[in-house]
Amino acid sequence: MSTETSLDRLKATLGPIHHLRDAAALLSWDQETYMPHGGGAIRAEQLATLQTLAHDQFVSPEIEALLASFLDLSTGTLHPEHRSALDEPSQALLRETWRDFSRAKKLPSTFVNELERECSLAQQVWVEARKTNDFQLFLPNLQRLVKLKRQEAEYLGYHDSPYNALLDLYEPGATVAQLRPLFATLRMELIRLLDHIRQSPVQPKAHLLSQAYDQTQQVDFGRLVLKHMGYDFQRGRLDLSAHPFTTSFHPTDVRVTTRVFETDLPSCLFSCIHEGGHGLYDQGLPTKHYGTPLAEPISLGIHESQSRLWENCVGRSRAFWRYFYPKLQEVFPAQLGEVPAEEFYLAINRVTPSFIRVEADELTYNLHIMVRFEIELDVIEGRLQVEDLPEVWNAKIQEYLGIVPPSDAEGVLQDVHWSLGAFGYFPTYTLGNLYAAMLFRQAQKDLPGLDQAIGQGNLLPLKGWLNDRVHRWGRQYTAAELLQRVTGQALTPAPFIQDLEQKFGNLYQFPTTSSTSHSR
Ligand code: ZN
Repeated sequence: MSTETSLDRLKATLGPIHHLRDAAALLSWDQETYMPHGGGAIRAEQLATLQTLAHDQFVSPEIEALLASFLDLSTGTLHPEHRSALDEPSQALLRETWRDFSRAKKLPSTFVNELERECSLAQQVWVEARKTNDFQLFLPNLQRLVKLKRQEAEYLGYHDSPYNALLDLYEPGATVAQLRPLFATLRMELIRLLDHIRQSPVQPKAHLLSQAYDQTQQVDFGRLVLKHMGYDFQRGRLDLSAHPFTTSFHPTDVRVTTRVFETDLPSCLFSCIHEGGHGLYDQGLPTKHYGTPLAEPISLGIHESQSRLWENCVGRSRAFWRYFYPKLQEVFPAQLGEVPAEEFYLAINRVTPSFIRVEADELTYNLHIMVRFEIELDVIEGRLQVEDLPEVWNAKIQEYLGIVPPSDAEGVLQDVHWSLGAFGYFPTYTLGNLYAAMLFRQAQKDLPGLDQAIGQGNLLPLKGWLNDRVHRWGRQYTAAELLQRVTGQALTPAPFIQDLEQKFGNLYQFPTTSSTSHSR
């Protein structure tokens, strides 16, 4: 078979596997949005069946033979004759398919089935446990999941820590050894800034945001912002769910969700912008490569950089509200009609230690992540027992944020992730923040007048830049390569820290030490 025919065969074989995965993703979306409660048990079976089918087809002898015709299956190295014959995207397609294949191949089909079913069941038990503030209810499920995830790490293999095997599923290439010093620097700087803010006489009027705001109007406003961002409703939709998320079945069908509370204006608004950032990435992946890694996101960290960039760099900026605040005042004249823009801007940027990660401000958010990183590292490395999680959680939240959760629902039970078996996922949120700061700086350099455009409600130049520089490449580059290509730099927390210092130094009126000339 010629090189081209083999590559076409490989692509043709990968397509239907994606159909199975997309069908599973659709069932998951439904489970989170519209599925009646009674459908839970059978949904777990349905999902397990689809994921197992997808897994089995992916590790089939046919794909193995096709890959083997291009590369050494044990190392992933291309055979010499293909190195010059294949263009860069094709080489990337093979490299990434091999990466997925060799990982999947290590997991027995029975294990995939068991893990998938446990995750679906655990997620449903978690919903109930959080609602009733009952950690003991969730405990047996979580214990089984931790056991399965540690087993998964053993199947996959790792250097240094089993946690690395799990982290690699979400952020290829990231390691505990890399994250520890990065997080240590960041933690020190964040605590320093938080101390300044605690001592500041400036008191944002947060109560402005907890007046009664009509829920339908809140969702409509979120939809308006999404349209301005260039989120395509012909290829997407917005629904409500307990935990906002984005899911994609193809670049032409990318769905976002939000949640809405009458007395919490930022929740719905920033969830829409955040998920919209994820949605733009998924809508911006190249349709022509559907089914292959070239139409998949690079990593969760890069995905999160997109949501964070829109949520924080754009959605919490003065420029953004120059255009959108009068619009918001028109929708809520009784609540905001008399409130000056600057007061509103200060309120949505208030920094204060709080219990719930997803509602946390730009600065303390990362401290929430560090708590989770340390805990799950200890759990996966076997130093911490699952039954001790609530106690350890509360102690760490007190250590990092100076507050103690009044309940497990507002503590260890708040996140869906562990119930989905997603250990090693949390660090990607902080990586996303760091990537976002670097990317947004580059966008400001590349697009003179970007702040003015945003101030006029014209968000499309930024969307176009992201489409061009990040989205359209799929997994052609690794996260590190993409960052280097776009910004000319390796990952560094400096821009993120400098931007926070400048922004909050200005808002909370404390002297800043950073010499950056960048502004937001
Ligand atoms: Zn996100």
